[in-house]
Amino acid sequence: MNLIFLGAPGAGKGTQSTVVAEKMNIPHISTGDIFRYNIKNQTELGKKANEYISKGELVPDELTVSIVTDRLMQDDCKNGFALDGFPRTIPQAEALEKFLAEHGKKIDNALNIQVDENILVERLSNRRFCPKCNGTFHMIENKLTEEICPVCGAELKQRDDDKEEVILQRLQEYHKSTEPLIDFYRSRNVLTDVPPIIGMEKAIAATLKVLGIE
Ligand SMILES: [Zn+2]
Repeated sequence: MNLIFLGAPGAGKGTQSTVVAEKMNIPHISTGDIFRYNIKNQTELGKKANEYISKGELVPDELTVSIVTDRLMQDDCKNGFALDGFPRTIPQAEALEKFLAEHGKKIDNALNIQVDENILVERLSNRRFCPKCNGTFHMIENKLTEEICPVCGAELKQRDDDKEEVILQRLQEYHKSTEPLIDFYRSRNVLTDVPPIIGMEKAIAATLKVLGIE
């Protein structure tokens, strides 16, 4: 089965797609991983991508598509794949569709991993880490009244990515650029909504059920 995982940042689609791929015995393909692989092994595509990345520029759609489709041509993808983090834009989705059609394939299911954004913001913005013992804590769940590590007493810190304004900005970017993909795959009759569920185990179970795997 050829799968795509869509979802807002923090929706847990990385974990979901990894577990589902494992269960289905198909490769989990994250764009981050294949970019790193190509750059580390200095492939032609990796060298090209690095020209943009090293200058802090966005890798053009065409090159990103080449890197992904190159991976999809490998033998282990012949019975299916789980794409995580790609496509991100409509032009990428169209290019992927064209490539698959040329190889007699298509996307069988695009899973829209939904998330309750208020809960997401609450969960991430209350997260703290301890720079001394590396513990991760949640101000409310761990009932912390001050930003002091309950394990070692060091001062807790907040990751930049967990700051509320950063989370809200990423959500806004997601809505603008990636959400149109939901309509794109809906129009192809392959979109499945996975409603927001609290707790990763339950959320994974819901996704497997949607796919008819239990
Ligand atoms: Zn600590």
